[in-house]
Amino acid sequence: MSSNPVAETVASLMPRAKAELAELVAFKSVADFDQFPRSESEGAANWIADALRSEGFEDVALLDTPDGTQSVYGYLPGPEGAKTVLLYAHYDVQPPLDEAAWTTPPFELVERDGRWYGRGSADCKGGVVMHLLALRALKANGGVPVHVKVIVEGSEEQGTGGLERYAEAHPELLTADTIVIGDAGNFRAGLPTVTATLRGMTLVRVQVDTLEGNLHSGQFGGAAPDALAALIRVLDSLRAKDGSTKVDGLAADSSWDGLQYEEQAFREDAKVLDGVELIGSGTVADRVWARPAVTVLGIDCPPVVGATPSVQAGARALISLRVPPGFDAVEATKLLQAHIEAHTPWGARVSTEPIGQGQAFRADTSSPAYASMAEAMAVAYPGQEMQSAGMGGSIPLCNTLASLYPDTEILLIGLSEPEAQIHAVNESVSPDELERLSVAEALFLRNYAAS
Ligand SMILES: [Zn+2]
Repeated sequence: MSSNPVAETVASLMPRAKAELAELVAFKSVADFDQFPRSESEGAANWIADALRSEGFEDVALLDTPDGTQSVYGYLPGPEGAKTVLLYAHYDVQPPLDEAAWTTPPFELVERDGRWYGRGSADCKGGVVMHLLALRALKANGGVPVHVKVIVEGSEEQGTGGLERYAEAHPELLTADTIVIGDAGNFRAGLPTVTATLRGMTLVRVQVDTLEGNLHSGQFGGAAPDALAALIRVLDSLRAKDGSTKVDGLAADSSWDGLQYEEQAFREDAKVLDGVELIGSGTVADRVWARPAVTVLGIDCPPVVGATPSVQAGARALISLRVPPGFDAVEATKLLQAHIEAHTPWGARVSTEPIGQGQAFRADTSSPAYASMAEAMAVAYPGQEMQSAGMGGSIPLCNTLASLYPDTEILLIGLSEPEAQIHAVNESVSPDELERLSVAEALFLRNYAAS
């Protein structure tokens, strides 16, 4: 990598990158203003706006989004006729959780054992610094060959959708040929990865009623229709014997043809207890990235402490169904509702209510943007080939952007490899990953401009 001038420039900029990341991490920019003052988020937003201005960005603005937070926007014009690339990151962070459990203060960037610790260091203030590094490296080596838009969100971790709704109301703002979402991560540190798919999700609430009121289980139990027992039957019907998800009419045999997730690695990542089997069928990657997965999130029934000898008249559950790409979340919701109704025993009264849903996302990995990124990553990570992984969770903004701009390529990369422990205590970033991914992003912009 050292023979590449862009890589050399990025290496020389790393001390500055560390100092800047330390400044950004010091803002307690949790977008929950009851817990952390708004001024902390404003400080981070202004820091980013200043950084963009000093890189020559135009139209730099703090956008007031409908959830009361601010996104930072800027535009760096490129050569006449060039393509436009939108770079995304977010400056808000998860709360530190248990501050006493942090080895060093959460809002202080501290180097330890070759990693930089601090809340947001990887997710996603490191992403902001990665974008800056990539652009500076290009400027020092012949210029930025594309038009660049930067958008840095202020409430990603809250899920309040400020930027999504702002983008829907101002669809012209974020138009681009390609979008790089710098908020994902390599599958393992050192293994360059794009996240090619995200599962969607649907949430359904189910209520089962059988009696006008609870009954004494001694006097009536045995013949009285028990609503909790009926609900347990319904929930059990959503799984095959091996634990795989079973919803009538919903295919569950799709397979994943990208990077494989070794079973042992999964067991370690998921911290599965010794002797306990994984559930489902197919490869681990099939199960977590390519197939539907049902989870019972909650059941309303009497807690053990204080329970009385009663047959329950009613019971309720909240069910989540993760929906892989290729499935329509609306259709999956209907199938789930129909399944629940069809599998409710004993003529019990059942009602289902959809609580929310989001569509799955699949990138077009055969696009020129992907080829440009693969080439860039092979240079930034010598000896490695770009991998495509899935993500079991969802990024709602991705769906918003994909539906606003159906012809735009979306690439997900970033610093959140497993060791980064994002969202947990002692979050950290690998400076090596920051360096390599910044090189990859810079070379990607160059390759893509030429494609
Ligand atoms: Zn993030």
